[in-house]
Amino acid sequence: MLVNTLREVPAEAEIVSHKLLLRAGFIKKVASGIYSYLPIGWRVMQKIMDIIRDEMNKAGGLELGLPSIHPAELWLETGRWNVYGDELFRLKDRHQRDFCLGPTHEEVLTDIVRKEVSSYKQLPLLLYQIQNKYRDERRPRFGLMRGREFIMKDLYSFDKDVEGMKISYKKMYNAYVNIFKRCGLEFRAVEADSGAIGGKTSHEFMVLAQNGEAEIVYCPNCEYAANVEKAEAYPEVLPKEELKTMEKVYTPGAKTMDKLAEYLDVLKTRTIKTMLYKADEELVCVLVRGDRTVNEIKVKNLLDCVNLEIANEAVIQEEIGIPMGYVGPVNMPKKVKIVADSEINNLSNIIVGANKTDYHLINVNPGRDFRIDIEGDVRVIEEGEKCPCSAGTLKKARGIEVGQVFQLGTKYSEALKAVYADEKGNNNFIVMGCYGIGVGRTMAAAIEQNHDQDGIIWPMTIAPFHAVVIPVSSKDEQQIKIAEDIYQGLKSSGIEVIMDDRDERAGIKFKDADLIGYPLQIIVGNKTTTEGTVDLVMRKNKEDKNSVQVENVFEVVKNLVQTHIGSL
Ligand code: ATP
Ligand code: MG
Repeated sequence: MLVNTLREVPAEAEIVSHKLLLRAGFIKKVASGIYSYLPIGWRVMQKIMDIIRDEMNKAGGLELGLPSIHPAELWLETGRWNVYGDELFRLKDRHQRDFCLGPTHEEVLTDIVRKEVSSYKQLPLLLYQIQNKYRDERRPRFGLMRGREFIMKDLYSFDKDVEGMKISYKKMYNAYVNIFKRCGLEFRAVEADSGAIGGKTSHEFMVLAQNGEAEIVYCPNCEYAANVEKAEAYPEVLPKEELKTMEKVYTPGAKTMDKLAEYLDVLKTRTIKTMLYKADEELVCVLVRGDRTVNEIKVKNLLDCVNLEIANEAVIQEEIGIPMGYVGPVNMPKKVKIVADSEINNLSNIIVGANKTDYHLINVNPGRDFRIDIEGDVRVIEEGEKCPCSAGTLKKARGIEVGQVFQLGTKYSEALKAVYADEKGNNNFIVMGCYGIGVGRTMAAAIEQNHDQDGIIWPMTIAPFHAVVIPVSSKDEQQIKIAEDIYQGLKSSGIEVIMDDRDERAGIKFKDADLIGYPLQIIVGNKTTTEGTVDLVMRKNKEDKNSVQVENVFEVVKNLVQTHIGSL
């Protein structure tokens, strides 16, 4: 076996799964966001892929193999060559023809289906692959969590109609629940934004973990759970006041909401936060209550734009000549679209920037003093708000998105003209769904949830080996002989077992076994040669040490493994 464990925590690793994967010798960095899987790491990856494959096949999926190199023409046909932006790895061949490395496979697979499928009799179809994906992420980090090359299972469903798509979606949703359960993870399926992939209905499977990059809200009283990016926020209705006369007030240095509220001695709920964005080529002004945060995903969806970025000071100066920090909606030039959160229109006598350095306007009233071009839910939901079920208050948690399922509809079949002839001979667009799981991210998420100060504690189902046999003394020939017999015996009864036969001190072997995280440790020591027993230690609870007669080891270990993974 090739395992080199490290004592030191590698400097570049910030979160526990990344640290442990490197320290325990599962992966090796090649370049930023690009990793090799070492033999024990690859065994875990294979285990996860086996579980995924099994559930995909059970749900009726057909496995195939698709290329990583895609011709630009296909991506131009769907328009994504231009939309995907810098995340797409682009390359040219020797004839200067454009290609990209596949970040996802809607184009390539729909191209196959439009050529191979012509009749309703061939539908539904669930096609999938498990393969490398390439995304030139802006911030590759956390090891396998956010790589630039990573392994994904992606399945695409092709149905006759929306009803069929919903059935396929449900099948995949259920298969995902089974997969993550079998991987021993604690997770939640949450309502999600469908982003660049498209479609309307989508769920993300979130492994609950403090280090998760995603934030979710959930209701302790009902099933509701959603990504914060997506969770709909309901406007808080504050009592309407008698309208007062607008006035300009001197507010030196009050560039932030906190400073402003403090300077004028008012609650932030009485102020408006005005943010200027560049939405594709257009300048837009987004208004939310002073105590709220703009949800850029919602703004992007509302405006239906491709790029949304905070406008920088130079752009604001040049295009509308307003000083940053004092921007407000009153007299905003017509060419700047004003997008207001649904809470804004209800407010009365509020405070906004005066579009003049060191000045704000007080007693400002929407409608009377400024226009609203587009109204909608564009703010981030907060913990403690009411759940749509109206019984509970929402809580926030962090999650790692290990999988996502989408109802795509006809976005890709229309772009690529993938049609089938129905019973009457009429052509219809095929209705699609797509379903991804990050294999490496699932492995990292499993570690985030299953570790202690000594190392990883693999769930039995995805552990690199079920058990390790450790002879305490590498010098004691009798111990080595018994250890070898146990090892061979377990192996022939179907247990995945490894023996630490290195010429190392016992302490080092124990430390490595804990770090690598084999669920069961079988320790062959003095008691084995004198009393005929071995110590059987559960990695999960090391205090739980059992003395087992050597001749019973096979039976006991087999039972333990079987209770976790089913039959061998
Ligand atoms: P994220 O929002 O985290 O960037 P995504 O929503 O873009 O991910 P999908 O297109 O839904 O990702 O891909 C399906 C799955 O592939 C994700 O749920 C995740 O498990 C995995 N995945 C996506 N990007 C990466 C990455 N850069 N590194 C590792 N796994 C990834
Ligand atoms: Mg996703």
